[in-house]
Amino acid sequence: MSISHSDPAPSVAALYFDGRSARAHPVTLTLHGHDLHLDGAGLSRIDALPAVRLSEPMGQAARIITFADGAHVEVRDHAALAVLLAASGQRDSTIVRWSFQPRAVLALLAGLLCALWFAWQFGLPWAARQAAPHVPDEVVTALSQQTLAWVDGGVMTASTLDVQRQQSLRSALDAAARVDGQSLTHALMFRSGGAMGANAFALPDGTLIVTDQLVALAGNDDEVLAVLLHELGHARSRHGTRMLLQGSVSALFMAWYLGDVSSLLAMAPTALIQAGYSRDMEREADDFAARMLRRQGLSPALLADMLEKLAAAHDKDAHSPDSLPAWLSSHPDTAERIARLRNGDFMLN
Ligand SMILES: [Zn+2]
Repeated sequence: MSISHSDPAPSVAALYFDGRSARAHPVTLTLHGHDLHLDGAGLSRIDALPAVRLSEPMGQAARIITFADGAHVEVRDHAALAVLLAASGQRDSTIVRWSFQPRAVLALLAGLLCALWFAWQFGLPWAARQAAPHVPDEVVTALSQQTLAWVDGGVMTASTLDVQRQQSLRSALDAAARVDGQSLTHALMFRSGGAMGANAFALPDGTLIVTDQLVALAGNDDEVLAVLLHELGHARSRHGTRMLLQGSVSALFMAWYLGDVSSLLAMAPTALIQAGYSRDMEREADDFAARMLRRQGLSPALLADMLEKLAAAHDKDAHSPDSLPAWLSSHPDTAERIARLRNGDFMLN
């Protein structure tokens, strides 16, 4: 025998449960080679180590050793168990050892946060982009009606714009909103902007809303048309629906997996009118407007002119608590966009 009496094999006190009754039996665990020996009053069993499972450490909670037949022991003496494991040459798994090292735990946490940030920053917009074209028409219609109801529920009031002016703007949009001889789905509504002032936005179904104040700010119909085509670009690319989908993971989940769009509907007005589009979406809508203006023999600089006028108008109103410079906050990097439209840096195809 190689084991000397001066160096007894390490042992651990534990409680044994046979898997059939709730009764706890005090036992002692020892290791002999690759066998785990369990001894108690009238109890004895020997199990090969590979056949037993050791639970991961969770603070001061007992470690559980589970046997193949469903019986288990609870070990509360963590220090003695560690000595036993060390003596056997067994080590806890990598993740278990790491969880005792603060630096490793921090590294794991940082990795997890990075993964979450990436999912939020790139995964969610990507998922929204994939999902937006598949949102059923009924949902798109419901989102649009809900938003229009909110607008007409006190945010804006009936337009006082001359009917003939309304008609000439409508005709100009009808003539411009065509691709390959096909008319693009659209509708045009006029409202008095109230606190929202000079403003224009698109509902997901292609309905464009323009305020009397924006028409007044524009020098002519072509400048209004430039803004309308920009908004039509947002509607065509379903930007509003995408913003809505990526605005709430829970609403997205409810809509896709449970078919319940009520939370999406509730969010629609804020997401579609008050929240901002991303820089990429603005560029895409600018490019669309520039292309459509060119086809009408008009200059994309018309949109740049309007961006400047809108920026100036909302700057002037900024000190008023009622003013809502949403058009600008929702149209970031205005100066960069103006330069891009003037320099013809946009994508023509
Ligand atoms: Zn825009």
